[in-house]
Amino acid sequence: PAKTMDELVSLCKRRGFIFQGSEIYGGMQGAYDYGPLGIELKNNLKNAWWRAMVYDRDDVEGLDAAIIQNKHVYKYSGHEDTFTDPMVDCHECKSRMRADHMKDIKKCDNCGSDNVTEPRDFNLMFKTNVGPMVNEESYTYLRPETAQGIFTNFKNVVDSTSRALPFGIAQIGKSFRNEITPRNFIFRVREFEQMELEFFCKPGEDEQWHDTWVKLRKQWWLDQGLAEENIEFEYVTGDDLAHYSKATVDILYKFPHGFEELEGVANRTDYDLGSHTKAQEEFGLSAKVKKNEHSTTKLAVRDLEENKQIVPFCIEPSAGLDRGVLAVMTEAYTEEELENGSTRTVLKLKPHLAPIKVAVLPLKKNKPEIVEAAKAIKNRLQKLGLGRILYENTGNVGKGYRRHDEVGTPICITVDFDTIEQEGAPVTIRHRDTMQQEVVNTADLPSFILNYFVN
Ligand code: ATP
Repeated sequence: PAKTMDELVSLCKRRGFIFQGSEIYGGMQGAYDYGPLGIELKNNLKNAWWRAMVYDRDDVEGLDAAIIQNKHVYKYSGHEDTFTDPMVDCHECKSRMRADHMKDIKKCDNCGSDNVTEPRDFNLMFKTNVGPMVNEESYTYLRPETAQGIFTNFKNVVDSTSRALPFGIAQIGKSFRNEITPRNFIFRVREFEQMELEFFCKPGEDEQWHDTWVKLRKQWWLDQGLAEENIEFEYVTGDDLAHYSKATVDILYKFPHGFEELEGVANRTDYDLGSHTKAQEEFGLSAKVKKNEHSTTKLAVRDLEENKQIVPFCIEPSAGLDRGVLAVMTEAYTEEELENGSTRTVLKLKPHLAPIKVAVLPLKKNKPEIVEAAKAIKNRLQKLGLGRILYENTGNVGKGYRRHDEVGTPICITVDFDTIEQEGAPVTIRHRDTMQQEVVNTADLPSFILNYFVN
């Protein structure tokens, strides 16, 4: 794995994974842009999540709600009142910092001085104006989590899919938080993507589902290539529990800056649906909620055993996509000593996450038959639908291998004179991790490649 964040930042910039946002204007803190390879990696991780959460299960539906929502959503969700971080100012160096680690020792992160203010609450939501008139009522917020769009659509999804408990709704999308101190590359940013599942169940079955989801989510991260010893659980307690949560287990990963949260799995009880439902008093809610004077809809389902409408409990596994990208890159980053004394950098990503699945390299740049054969192979493999297959004509295969090691391409195919001259049109396949080479006939390539990527 990567030992320092700097190694990753440098690889990301050099090879086109991730760039500082607004770089040509001196940057924009807490905003990053995904480059040609970064977007592939991010999409692959996103798709792996969607496959595992929606397609592989038959009890989860997908959703893509709007980022901008009615401001009442954030009034009743509790975010307007309580979505804050404690903030402290330093009198000495004038820097401003997030203070949730300052419970015992109050010292400035920047200069070490203890001449700092008392912590005060800072709301992390970005406020924005909607419509051409600017007045006291025309505001809303950019969503700080995707979850609220799931709760507000609860009835729509139930009615259109006829779901009964237990079932879930999954969503991936951008969230925005005006973090006091964004830092550690894409770990803590102001604009990021979340992959969230809200899994609804009967009260009483919530604790069991919570345990189940903690286990399933850990296994999913292992399937993305994270090593068991680099994952830990943290059982969140007391003051650190969010306003909606009965129990939260954070899944931590050993990032270059230490063990930190990758995903939170929370038992949100009936807090959210109970907050947003009409006729709250009819349901005997277990959570303490604000009285709702605006909702037009009951967010409840019929409990067939008890034959009455109930507001379900909800288990939420909420993962950061950007933190996921950082975690899989950290884990995959490898520097290897070779037999000849040189070193190579390899990104040992799981094949399904690799930005480029296969690179097809003609041995000779200016030999039309070789070039044609290579292009035909690229087109044939591209149609398999595995992701990006790259035809790359630089004429320097050795350098190509090194570059593809660094960006995690699992397989390079070299097309040479044998391909155009010999029967069966053999090509050379070179594997990223072992650097082993083998010969495969062109006609067998599609099934070879399919077998490799689809297990
Ligand atoms: P932290 O304590 O690190 O601020 P959090 O507990 O506030 O995180 P949640 O509200 O549980 O985070 O959000 C769920 C997930 O969303 C987190 O586990 C993380 O992966 C991701 N996430 C939250 N805030 C950020 C951020 N500022 N930048 C990138 N990802 C984030």
